[in-house]
Amino acid sequence: MNTLLLSLILTTMSYEMPKLPYETNGLEPVISQQTIEFHYGKHLQTYVTNLNNLVPGTEFEGKSLEAIVASAPDGAIFNNAGQVLNHTLYFLQFSGKPKSHEPSGKLAESINKEWGSFENFKKEFAAAAVGLFGSGWVWLSADKSGKLHITKEANGSNPVRAGFKPLLGFDVWEHAYYLDYQNRRADHIAALWSIIDWDVVSKRVD
Ligand code: MN
Repeated sequence: MNTLLLSLILTTMSYEMPKLPYETNGLEPVISQQTIEFHYGKHLQTYVTNLNNLVPGTEFEGKSLEAIVASAPDGAIFNNAGQVLNHTLYFLQFSGKPKSHEPSGKLAESINKEWGSFENFKKEFAAAAVGLFGSGWVWLSADKSGKLHITKEANGSNPVRAGFKPLLGFDVWEHAYYLDYQNRRADHIAALWSIIDWDVVSKRVD
């Protein structure tokens, strides 16, 4: 490859849409094709486009999403980077046909240590998601010592802001469920467990 082409590619390098590991109707009936088309195709695309418009010429140019979300001041770059990071982790954590409906290995052990059982963890996580006021996210994350946490994140924030590693996130913005569940956020949260790909989530621990 010639150097001019290489430098063109580098200067136009940008934040990208994650490739969905399923068809847009692959998560039905838990998440409808219409919701995926709006949530992934419109909402996430807008965050990606906004971020690519905002970052050039700033101190964040060339930085990873995680680095931006960890360090950017509150504002448009932080909000859009947070939502690109959040939704990338979110859309990649699902499968229409997960091999296992439970975590395994180190993650399973850590969940049992922190919450006693997987069932109890799900109860605590769902309660946080149902109880979050307004728009935001609930995350399972690991701190530097490996201890797990359930956190409520307002708007587009993410546990990387606190130095934690995000493992599993539920989006409780209304755009995530309103077409399918209207005001029934608790029903949406309860249904999500059946499409979590625990192989993907368990691998994020390492
Ligand atoms: Mn969303």
